[in-house]
Amino acid sequence: MVSGVIKGVIFDFNWTLYNPRDRCEVDGATRLLKDLVKEDYFLGIVTKDKNRERRGIIDSLKFWEYASVVYTKGKKTEKDFEKCIRAMNPYLEPFEVAVVGDNLLSEIYLGNMIGFRTVRFKFGEFSEEKPGREFEKPNYQITKLYELMNCLK
Ligand SMILES: [Mg+2]
Repeated sequence: MVSGVIKGVIFDFNWTLYNPRDRCEVDGATRLLKDLVKEDYFLGIVTKDKNRERRGIIDSLKFWEYASVVYTKGKKTEKDFEKCIRAMNPYLEPFEVAVVGDNLLSEIYLGNMIGFRTVRFKFGEFSEEKPGREFEKPNYQITKLYELMNCLK
């Protein structure tokens, strides 16, 4: 059961749930999604899919069984996150939502602007980037996906 203030989690896909270099899910991704659903969290994925190639990957990983998926054509915007919340549970307030991702702009900066709890996953090509602006600083940082559980209390 969800006991804290966070009731929904929005994930980034590339370099968060999916490792595009090894072309497989990030260690423990499916297990994490399953466990979060079991605990009654509402889940979403917002991902860029300019060439419609990511749909096939997400379909084969069956992540849609656990999360509402929103595809964007270009850079993520606040509207994409709003759309995702509407698909997850329209009654969710921003402060009840955590966003998880590797990108300081697409997830952390935007997430902070919207009022989400922000969790930076230090993984992949952006993992050594330093937050430049105040709004690029995440509330939490994790290096393994499963550590997310500790950020939702
Ligand atoms: Mg990413």
